[in-house]
Amino acid sequence: MLRSFIKYYRPHIGLFILDMVCAVLIAATDLIYPMITRRMINNIIPSKNISLILNIGIVLLILYILRMVFEYIVGYYGHVLGVRMEYDMRRDMFSHIQTLPISYFDNTKTGQIMSRIVNDLNEISELAHHGPEDLFISTLMILGSFILLLRLNVKLTLIVFTIIPFMIYFTIVYNSKMRRNFRKIRESLADVNSRLEDSISGIRVVKSFTNEEYEIDKFDDGNTQFKNLRTKSVKYIGILHAGINFFSNISTLSALIAGGYFVAKGQIEVGDLVAYLLYIGQFLQPVKRLAQFVEQYQRGMAGFKRFYEVMNTKPDIFDKEDAVEIKNVRGKVEFRNVSFSYNNKNTVLENINLKANAGESIAIVGPSGVGKTTLCSLIPRFYDVDSGSIYVDDINIKDIKLKFLRQNIGIVQQDVFLFAGTIRENIAYGKLDATEEEIINAAKAANAHDFIMELEDGYDTYIGERGVKLSGGQKQRISIARMFLKNPPILILDEATSSLDNQSEAIIQKSIEELSKNRTTFIIAHRLATVKKAKRIIVLTENGIEEEGTHSELMQKKGVYYELYKTQFE
Ligand code: ADP
Ligand code: MG
Repeated sequence: MLRSFIKYYRPHIGLFILDMVCAVLIAATDLIYPMITRRMINNIIPSKNISLILNIGIVLLILYILRMVFEYIVGYYGHVLGVRMEYDMRRDMFSHIQTLPISYFDNTKTGQIMSRIVNDLNEISELAHHGPEDLFISTLMILGSFILLLRLNVKLTLIVFTIIPFMIYFTIVYNSKMRRNFRKIRESLADVNSRLEDSISGIRVVKSFTNEEYEIDKFDDGNTQFKNLRTKSVKYIGILHAGINFFSNISTLSALIAGGYFVAKGQIEVGDLVAYLLYIGQFLQPVKRLAQFVEQYQRGMAGFKRFYEVMNTKPDIFDKEDAVEIKNVRGKVEFRNVSFSYNNKNTVLENINLKANAGESIAIVGPSGVGKTTLCSLIPRFYDVDSGSIYVDDINIKDIKLKFLRQNIGIVQQDVFLFAGTIRENIAYGKLDATEEEIINAAKAANAHDFIMELEDGYDTYIGERGVKLSGGQKQRISIARMFLKNPPILILDEATSSLDNQSEAIIQKSIEELSKNRTTFIIAHRLATVKKAKRIIVLTENGIEEEGTHSELMQKKGVYYELYKTQFE
């Protein structure tokens, strides 16, 4: 996992090196300063050499100006590095998520994905640039000042450093507490986000059931848990920081007392003690920083782990190496012995055989829940069959590049999904490079042009999230216009008019007939009236394809279709 984290530094190696070099230079200036102070106090000040004192002052001033520049570079370019890495990760994650199969989204909450892309990556970015810098500078400073402390006075160093092991032990204990806590916090935040997402997207349902209180309570459960975890976390952070500061003060105190004793005994000079105290400070500061680093590391890595999990979710539906591109598809579709289940337990479809010739229309009817939608979502490979095969133009769909397969299949569903944007954008989604003329023609074909022109902004009308500002029938017409632009040889109409009133249905039925012309069409219909005219009706039941024929043939048969028809019309 660490390796794949490090991978993200590679494109920005220049910035990284710049950051590190400046960081080292900062450390160096900090280490030089106490040495010069010591010289000043021990030799130069007693010698009363004013011009030398001033010269050293100037040297130190220059040193500090340089340090300021280095610090600026570290602060600015270091963050730029983090921001760029975060950008890369976010881009990779979004691209990767786009490749994941529908089954992934069936089982993952939107809010959790959002949380990963937004919050987790932010933590990672912080770690990405502060991490190496903190780790590296702190280690350098600790080693450097430790060596210098020893050089100044071994005895004093031994006394002072009896405190350090306690400090390290203390840090380790609290860090491991924090690590476990951070992981829970990440999960809890994702939970809060997904509840938020769910509740907001379902706001119309919430309000119509007047379940606002219930939603608030449910949200509050997650929010409370998040608060409690955060409270625990800040408690640990508080203890850790206070504790570390206490130990470091004790170290300084013992240096002051023991050093004072040695000065009084005439064993060391005052300048040595001053330099010693300064180095102690410089030793302890990176120790504190390391402790903080561990906190950041925990947070960042908890985030990265979740990022990594998503990135490591491999799509199980993808192009075979030798997958082919298909062009000029005629639209013959054939199911051979197809069986399918969503979870390998409950078989939804068993041994389905069905052949649709190019340009043929097939109506699929049957009780709710028998797998009509499922059957059709197997054609664009939203899910893969468990056994058997599906052929498009006599090529097994598993041998066709997904992109080419899906470009040749159009699906019009009952609940239309429109994107937040204008009507034009939503129609053009069917063909991203469509001209204005093509868009208008598609809208006309879908019987949408007239109502669009009546809207205040016409094609530029903003339709709200998921198209909330349009009626069901209007949304459906937009989605049909979109399909006219896509112009696929294979068309699936999944209860496209089921939720519409009779009048809208009549209008849409016409454009659907227009759309179906010269395409292989699967019409899933709940209302049998809409399929009465179909030349071929398939009746799907739990036992598979139970009946097949025209309306009058099926009525004569007095089987499942007959029963369904009777319940609908009597
Ligand atoms: P129909 O369209 O005929 O009403 P579906 O194809 O939607 O039926 O569903 C067939 C069966 O598969 C149902 O029992 C349903 O609960 C189940 N099902 C549908 N979609 C999923 C899914 N994404 N994950 C798991 N089970 C599903
Ligand atoms: Mg269905």
